[in-house]
Amino acid sequence: MGELFVLVGGESASLPVYKKPRRKRIFPFCPVVVCMSVMGGGFYISKVVGVAGIVLGAGAVATIIALAVVYSEEVAKNNEVISPTNEGSTVKPTLTTTEGSSVSTPLLPTAQPSNEPWDKYRLPDTLKPDHYNLTLWPRLKVNEQGLYIFTGETYVVFQCVKETDLILIHSNKLNYTKWEGGQLAKLTALGNITAPTIKSSWLQETTQYLVMQLNGNLTVGELYQLDTKFVGELANDLGGFYRSEYEEDGIEKVVATTQMQPTDARKAFPCFDEPAMKAVFHITLLHPVGTIALSNGMERDPVPVTMEGPEGTVEVLKTSFSETKRMSTYLLAFIVSDYDYVNETTNDVLIRIYARKKAITDKQGEYALNITGPILKFFEEYYNVSYPLPKSDQIALPDFNAGAMENWGLITYRETALLYDPEMSSNSNKERIATIIAHELAHMWFGNLVTLNWWNDLWLNEGFASYVEYLGANDAEPDWNIKDLIVLNDVHRVFAIDALASSHPLSSEEQAIQKPEQISELFDAISYMYCNVCVCHFLQQTYLKAFSYNNTVYSDLWDHLDLAANSSGVSLPTGFNVNSIMNRWVLQMGFPVITIDTANGHFSQEHFLLDPASRPDVPESEFKYEWIVPIRWMKTGKEQSLTWLKTRTVIENEWVLANLNVSGYYRVNYDVPNWERLLNVLNTTPESIPVINRAQLIDDAFNLARAKYIDTILALRTTKYLKTEKEYMPWESALNNLDFFYLMFDRSEVFGYMQAYLKIQVEELFGHFKNITDNWTKVPSGHMDQYNQVNAIRVACSTGIDECLNLTKGWYKQWMNDPTKNPIHPNLRTTVYCSAISAGGEAEWEFGWNQFNASTIATEADKLRYALACTKQPWLLNKYLEYSLNPTKIRKQDATSTIVYIASNVVGQPLAWDFIRDRWQYIFEQYGGGSFSFSNLINGVTKRFSTEFELQQLKDFQAEHNDFGSGNLAIQQSIERTSANIRWVAENKKKVLEWFDGEVPKP
Ligand SMILES: [Zn+2]
Repeated sequence: MGELFVLVGGESASLPVYKKPRRKRIFPFCPVVVCMSVMGGGFYISKVVGVAGIVLGAGAVATIIALAVVYSEEVAKNNEVISPTNEGSTVKPTLTTTEGSSVSTPLLPTAQPSNEPWDKYRLPDTLKPDHYNLTLWPRLKVNEQGLYIFTGETYVVFQCVKETDLILIHSNKLNYTKWEGGQLAKLTALGNITAPTIKSSWLQETTQYLVMQLNGNLTVGELYQLDTKFVGELANDLGGFYRSEYEEDGIEKVVATTQMQPTDARKAFPCFDEPAMKAVFHITLLHPVGTIALSNGMERDPVPVTMEGPEGTVEVLKTSFSETKRMSTYLLAFIVSDYDYVNETTNDVLIRIYARKKAITDKQGEYALNITGPILKFFEEYYNVSYPLPKSDQIALPDFNAGAMENWGLITYRETALLYDPEMSSNSNKERIATIIAHELAHMWFGNLVTLNWWNDLWLNEGFASYVEYLGANDAEPDWNIKDLIVLNDVHRVFAIDALASSHPLSSEEQAIQKPEQISELFDAISYMYCNVCVCHFLQQTYLKAFSYNNTVYSDLWDHLDLAANSSGVSLPTGFNVNSIMNRWVLQMGFPVITIDTANGHFSQEHFLLDPASRPDVPESEFKYEWIVPIRWMKTGKEQSLTWLKTRTVIENEWVLANLNVSGYYRVNYDVPNWERLLNVLNTTPESIPVINRAQLIDDAFNLARAKYIDTILALRTTKYLKTEKEYMPWESALNNLDFFYLMFDRSEVFGYMQAYLKIQVEELFGHFKNITDNWTKVPSGHMDQYNQVNAIRVACSTGIDECLNLTKGWYKQWMNDPTKNPIHPNLRTTVYCSAISAGGEAEWEFGWNQFNASTIATEADKLRYALACTKQPWLLNKYLEYSLNPTKIRKQDATSTIVYIASNVVGQPLAWDFIRDRWQYIFEQYGGGSFSFSNLINGVTKRFSTEFELQQLKDFQAEHNDFGSGNLAIQQSIERTSANIRWVAENKKKVLEWFDGEVPKP
């Protein structure tokens, strides 16, 4: 899947008033990699791009690494639920008896955990689906009860592989029509035998099964057919078969669409809903005349039919689709809409981009159409496997929870992730579209053709896709240097999360992850990021071919890597093979900090933890948190040969810099004299350090200071040279790290001193962009320069440079005077809107709100939605909070990010915290459970917490509600983070204030 949340802004803290929106997803995706490379004779491993990859001869090999989950605590929790009786659990299975009455069954005696198969979350290994035949009929108008519903008829043909008298098939929130005998399904045998009769059938709600107890055993090797008829609600809950609504030309329109991953296919029809249960699907959709139907397979011509439904006789269209390849249920998609599309055919693959009619008329699908063909072609060559399907549909939906979803042959997107308008979209919108499309297309092979066996190895899917998305996007837009951005966008983010004691290893035991909520938690940033890299063509070919239409576990990949290594004569370090090296990265959490002491030439490593006090909480690792680390480094500007972690002689008085171009997944610390030499280089000849490493030095220094390896003031001193820096990456790195200082201090007296310092630092950058844009009339030519122009304006305005404030207020005023003509360049809009709304009052806010409502372009609406959270008026922020939970004002998919934007504003922070506590029950019901954005809400609203009082509030909040669904981990992390913040502020506030004060010239 693509992106988790799409926060345009505010993902991390905020400069005083506002922060420029994050350019990119918070997601997705992967870039971090652990990989290994063998270059020439050397060998190195790391988790980042550059990082990794075993390069075989001239080729690159790949590897992955990844993710996974779950700490022992979750395991314990899981066990509780699997045995619903433990500790008086509240699980109450509902039994639908054969008479059809619903009965709540009493809990089993607490002393005896239930061992019934229907109380376990994983399917038994007795049955294997072969194919399904499914007809669904979504109603796009409410019925007499005021509900949107869908009806369905299906049969699945499955094989019995182990003798059993029980059929378990997933089913959630579906009501079944009874067959003769009152059973919920009909069972027939396909061979020459007779199927046993059904003794009883019922719905097991907790574990989401339709259960059939039989009067006899099924026979091993025989095929059986199970028929059902059912009805479900086409709710606006963004999961399973759901509805999305929008207005076009004053008419309310409804789209019926799906999001199955991870466990919601069972909400659309009864199915064996686990990724390894691959089958072939024959799909038919019934839909209103005037609409079109899409699914994974190619549609056949629609046929008019007359149907009898609860609503009487209805004329509808019946569209059936070519049978699918053998595939997993979570990749299915069914969509009914009145959309339009643009298309082309490349290499015999039909490519279509679907969207609202107006968006297609406005040509917003053109960019996606133009890059899809080349990216598909790039991946075909890269993988050396043809695109497996005859068509590639991509569709933009007004309501969509994630960023995108790689349904095989019918990829679904948020509008902002697919639709591009040259007049209205910024360069970051464009980059996001290119990378997300590349990510989803990459899944057509990795993920869809070859699929993980179970969600614990999620990283296997996401790892490959998230790394190669950069290759695909880079191929489509070679001028962007997009591969460098991996470091900022993904590596730094994963570093941050993976340095917490509550992080988790990439891979985890299969049985540790069973509940749907846990599966959702897996999709947190870590899984998205830890990825792979450098997949050598040889590896891809053998791996893809060996496992096409099948499922894998990560060790299959190591086996293939060992094969690749052996057959090409690569020598690994003595005593290690691919397995033993990679296991250290995959089976233990976190990453190392490498310390280089230039006085004696020692290199050493230690598990890096942002909060040293959390070390006792870290679970034991059989590898003792030691990694096999390859180090690329330079001495006085000259690259040295790659080295393994071992003693080396380094000459004193020369500066040493390691992790060149951030090729490895580790941080680097030095002895103080070497830090001083590096600071001196930054202040005198910064260009002798590669630009990615200038960014990395800043990021390492700030994080090492957080973890108490170096002094906080030393970290702050890495920002002094920015006065002359014009490059985007170091600035972005510094601003991201200073965000933490803003979060900790923007409610204290440190704030004024910090603002004064940053104002001086940014003056030259602001002037630089004024010059190269001819007084703000032109667009800088480079992709990165365009980003840094946004930084220049954002920081200059937020630190109070008058020229900047006048500029942004003037542009906004001009727009208010003539709303039909927006004078602000799309690249700058988020920042300018935010600046003007922050400096303005009700009139500016209301104008923004009206423009938000009038916007028919999702990216433009997102910019306004972010900027509206920048106002300093508490009453407007409270009004906006109310709007966020009103789906007629703010789409459900955007509710949590809107609240987080408001919390990022120092004025909005306490308002948002009060608000979510007050509305918790409602929010939990609406957004809890399997929703992805839930943990983001908790993290976002509590990130500024740094006092004992706030810590207590957080603990009270946790105690008050015993289950946070997919936000369980986030609550834990918030408490951990708040405790660390309290200690940090106590230790650093005074000296930070004094340092900033000392850096600002006195009048
Ligand atoms: Zn993905």
